[in-house]
Amino acid sequence: MSVKTVKGAKILLLAGDGIGPEIVAEAHKVLMALPFEFEIEEALIGGAAIELYDQPLPKDTLLKAQQADLILLGAVGGPKWDALSNHLRPEKGLLQLRSALGLFANLRPAVLYPELVQASSLKPEVVSGLDIMIVRELTGGIYFGEPRGVRTLENGEQQAYNTDVYTESEIKRIARVAFELAQKRDKKLCSVDKANVLEVTQLWRKTVEALSVEYPDVVLSHMYVDNAAMQLVKAPKQFDVIVTGNLFGDILSDEAAMLTGSIGMLPSASLNGSAQGLYEPCHGSAPDIAGQGLANPLATILSLAMGLRYTLGLTDMALMIESAVKKALAQGLRTPDIYEPGLEKVGTVQMGDAVVRELKQLGGSK
Ligand code: NAD
Repeated sequence: MSVKTVKGAKILLLAGDGIGPEIVAEAHKVLMALPFEFEIEEALIGGAAIELYDQPLPKDTLLKAQQADLILLGAVGGPKWDALSNHLRPEKGLLQLRSALGLFANLRPAVLYPELVQASSLKPEVVSGLDIMIVRELTGGIYFGEPRGVRTLENGEQQAYNTDVYTESEIKRIARVAFELAQKRDKKLCSVDKANVLEVTQLWRKTVEALSVEYPDVVLSHMYVDNAAMQLVKAPKQFDVIVTGNLFGDILSDEAAMLTGSIGMLPSASLNGSAQGLYEPCHGSAPDIAGQGLANPLATILSLAMGLRYTLGLTDMALMIESAVKKALAQGLRTPDIYEPGLEKVGTVQMGDAVVRELKQLGGSK
């Protein structure tokens, strides 16, 4: 994952469905307040694209995505399209996009803001200061392995099967992303597997171990997935970067994310080998609150910050956005999902405005 500063970077905004347009509009405002020239484009995906083009990922959107450096997505999906067949559903557009761009590395940070320590279900002393990065392999493993299917046995009983499969090169490329991230953080990497039972994860462990000689400054450890699930709720601050396969990563990243309280605060990144990235909040399109100005835009704004850091190499600007978010929270402003009595309840637009205001104070205005 080699990151360089991209001058005149191309950013594609894919608002999507439900609260998508509302939260992406706030991230757009933040982008416009930064002291840097971006080329910004917009396109349709998901249900919004189905309405106009009868398909969730129109050709024009895919083309714009292929040409963009950074893609910022709101969310896709909603009850209106739930009855459609699988290949036509809004979520299919997102899966097609991830696969077309070869986005194999999913980065899910779990950071607990001091102001939100009460939102976590764990005791403050267990979670305060939490800052974990989970790196999940996204395009291999059991979700894609062949053969897969359902067959009927001779006795008439049905049997279903999937295959967990990884090549050395797939393991190496995701491990490299994790080692490089660890080098920029606390230099600790924990590789999670089930090497006591599964051959595929024995190869995983052996390959990660062999690669570690190239990263002597990173302390590598290994942990079985059952223990990792336990340690994440027992003593989560022991972790810095965690790297794991698709299935274990799916589960552990949700577990780690929830240590931080609200889903409205969680950004994510999916990267390919040239650090081109799709950045999106971890939540969905929240149809229950769509169009009401209630959605928390911070996960999307923080996803933008991740994009500036990991795809465009604009670390200073990423830090500015992150500190503007912290300052908005420190003022006591809360969208309903993170509200606590005694603080000021605000809507989507007011929260976005507060971040922009803080950014300008930090010298972010053009
Ligand atoms: P969801 O994440 O949309 O909502 C779960 C709960 O969290 C809801 O109560 C919602 O109001 C709340 N919530 C979510 N984001 C919030 C925010 N920013 N601010 C405040 N509250 C927020 O999950 P769901 O209800 O299971 O799914 C709704 C739709 O989203 C479905 O169609 C699903 O397929 C889709 N989905 C899309 C993505 C994606 O685009 N990457 C991911 C997950 C789900």
